[in-house]
Amino acid sequence: MNTLSLNLPTAYISFGSNVGDRLVHINQALQYLSEADGILVTKVSSLYETEPVGYEEQDWFLNGVVAVETGLSPRQLLKVLQQIEKRIGRQQRKRWGPREMDLDLLIFDQRCINTPDLIVPHPEMHQRRFVLIPFAEIAPDTIHPILRQNIRTLLDDLPTEKDVQFFAPPPF
Ligand code: AMP
Repeated sequence: MNTLSLNLPTAYISFGSNVGDRLVHINQALQYLSEADGILVTKVSSLYETEPVGYEEQDWFLNGVVAVETGLSPRQLLKVLQQIEKRIGRQQRKRWGPREMDLDLLIFDQRCINTPDLIVPHPEMHQRRFVLIPFAEIAPDTIHPILRQNIRTLLDDLPTEKDVQFFAPPPF
């Protein structure tokens, strides 16, 4: 991983997999992200094994968060994430259901976007321990541009209903 900074906008992306070889899928996703034009991967969190949220009759996920610097627009970045999901073989399934790879754009700089196909900050990020725990590990002081609180505070304020367990150090 790069320790270099390009002084470009920083974005945070969550990744998760609960189908097939979860570790292989996550390593592939991070590899593809690091090879994408206009994206510099700067930090990767540890991996956490997490209880499914929403639709509960499915296997546990492996989740984490990655920080990137990018010259892409938020929409261009979303497109890259969707291409990576496809490349890893994601099938169309139910919302909140099982998935080979899920990549969500959590925060893009301090931008607030609300369009039919892209909402940033991600509208559910502050309610998900499987997002906030790895996010707080790599960037606890990042401010949520709508809630105006940092990630550590958002995590401290969240009830501990869903189980999130440390699984492995950063894979990348
Ligand atoms: P999901 O099933 O969670 O991967 O949701 C994918 C859909 O959410 C796509 O149609 C995206 O256009 C939409 N979407 C809206 N905001 C975001 C975001 N911040 N990150 C990822 N997908 C988003």
